[in-house]
This record gives sequence, structure tokens and C-alpha cells, in this order.
Amino acid sequence: MCELVPFARVRAILEKHNIRLRKSLGQNFLMDGNIVRKIMAAGRLLPEDVVVEIGPGAGTLTAALAGVCAHVVAVELDKRLLPVLEEVLDGLKNITVVPGDALKVDFDRLVAGITGAKTYKVVANLPYYITTPLVMRLLRGGSGVTQLVLMVQLEVAARMVAGPGSRDYGAFTVVVQYYSRPEVLFRVPRTVFFPQPEVDSAVVRLTKRRKPEVVVDNEDLFFALVRGAFGQRRKTVANALAGAKIVPGWTRATWEEILGRAGIDPRCRGETLSLLEFASLARVIQQRLMESGISG
Ligand code: SAM
Repeated sequence: MCELVPFARVRAILEKHNIRLRKSLGQNFLMDGNIVRKIMAAGRLLPEDVVVEIGPGAGTLTAALAGVCAHVVAVELDKRLLPVLEEVLDGLKNITVVPGDALKVDFDRLVAGITGAKTYKVVANLPYYITTPLVMRLLRGGSGVTQLVLMVQLEVAARMVAGPGSRDYGAFTVVVQYYSRPEVLFRVPRTVFFPQPEVDSAVVRLTKRRKPEVVVDNEDLFFALVRGAFGQRRKTVANALAGAKIVPGWTRATWEEILGRAGIDPRCRGETLSLLEFASLARVIQQRLMESGISG
């Protein structure tokens, strides 16, 4: 059962500890029980699950999570909130609050050290300023994470699920879709937060794929291509890739030939390429490098 801490109590405890919330730390606390319940449902949590929460704040979501899963590991950067969390979460034994920066923590090691678990789910109302680097880190690095349910800015949610050629499609989209199956679950108005942010939000669920969406032998090359293709969105893909100097010495003419071999029109824009096209381009490059005796 998901137990909610009354929001009036949370506000009273924050006041008692004389805490003013900081915009610079993305401190917009959830003040709506209905949204907390919807996030919990989105997590599809099981009693045996270990959950990592990033930025527990005053512990509202943390307490609800602890009511339905085996253990919550909550990483909070703002040390001023530690006594607040102690008070709000008093008596809940299956929560470990870890002071620290979510952008520096090794989550696989942290979870294994505290609970012994090799896999875990992430549930968080994210501080928006760390969304992109954190999601990249969790998807590319955290091999134990199986699913992420995240409150993010509406505009970031749109970037996660965008298709090739659309305005929201970019390098971040490709990374998210390569590693996970993203879904935008519901929209959240700014009015449910204290203090109110300037934008609306959405809750997304990223289900980590067991195997990436496309077959790629050399991931570093694949992601270098993605960065290169989106680096200069106004240029044709041949120009953008030549400019990105992914393979030293390759001119625009070389890239035109390589793109042709991969079945891609060199005059198109990088932002129109699908994951499959990036993957086949990486394969052709790898082949060509092998033919010329340079290993990728
Ligand atoms: N979970 C609470 C809620 O839903 O009401 C608070 C969410 S608030 C949007 C973001 C929280 O993340 C804040 O408590 C903030 O102090 C914390 N935070 C900010 N940067 C962080 C970082 N780099 N690592 C861990 N926590 C961070």
C-alpha cells in the first residue's frame, strides 16, 4: 500500500529546519498525492524490487516507495535536507539515504553494497538541470538498471520519443532509444509543485532493452557519428561528418561515397537519419577502415 506523508507536515518540517528551497538545485517539491500515486503505478513495482531515488527532497515519494518495495536507496545532494529526511522517514527501516551527487555516484556499486542486489529500478522527480547527463550516465553506464520512471520537463519528454526528421529529434533521442523503450505516460502541470517551476512536466518510463535496438559492433564510432551528424544541423550529413573529423583525412567526397554505400543520400540532413541508418553507416565505415588497414 502506498502511504503518503501529509504535505502540510512536510512544509511544517521544512519551516522548522529553516529551509528555503533552491532553484539552482532544481528543488520543486511534489505536493499532490494523486501524482505521487500515478508515479508509483508507473513504476510497476514488485515487493522484491530495489529502487534508487535521485533527489528525495523532503521524502514524500521516498516514503511511498518504501511502502511497496524491498529497499529504497535515495541519493540527495543537499545536506540541509538530511535532518528533514530523518524526521519524515523516521521508523521506515527499508530506506538508505545517501548524501552525494547523482552525477558522480556509481549506482551499480552503491546498490550492491547496500542491498546485495544486482538489478534495480530508478524512480525520481528529477532536478531538471541534471536530466540529460544523468539519463545518459544511467543508460550508458549503469548495467544494473532495468527501468527508469522519471519526472522530466515536457520538452525533454518529447525529445526522448521523437522520430527522425522532427524538431525534437537529436543525439539525446538516439542514445535514449538505442538503450531503452521510452514512453511518455502523463503530463504534469506546474501547479502541483512547491515552489512552482516555469514549465510543465511529464512522467516518462524508459524500459531498458536487454539488447540495444540495433546491432552495432563499435559503439564509440556509432555515438561519434551521431554527435557529428547532429553537431551542425544546418549542414548536409556529408558536410557535417567531414567537419566533425571522425576519421582523420576523410574529405567530403570520401563521406559521400561511404554514405552512398550505406544507402544514405549524402545531401540529406543528419537529423533525418534513423537508428538503423546510423548503425549501417557505422558498419560501412568499419568495413572501409578494415579494407584500408586502419582498425576503427
Ligand atoms: N523527490 C522530491 C519530490 O518529489 O518532492 C524532490 C524533487 S526535487 C525536483 C529534486 C531534488 O534533487 C532536490 O531534493 C534536490 O536537492 C536534489 N538534487 C539536486 N541536484 C542533485 C544531484 N546532483 N544529486 C542528487 N540530488 C540532487
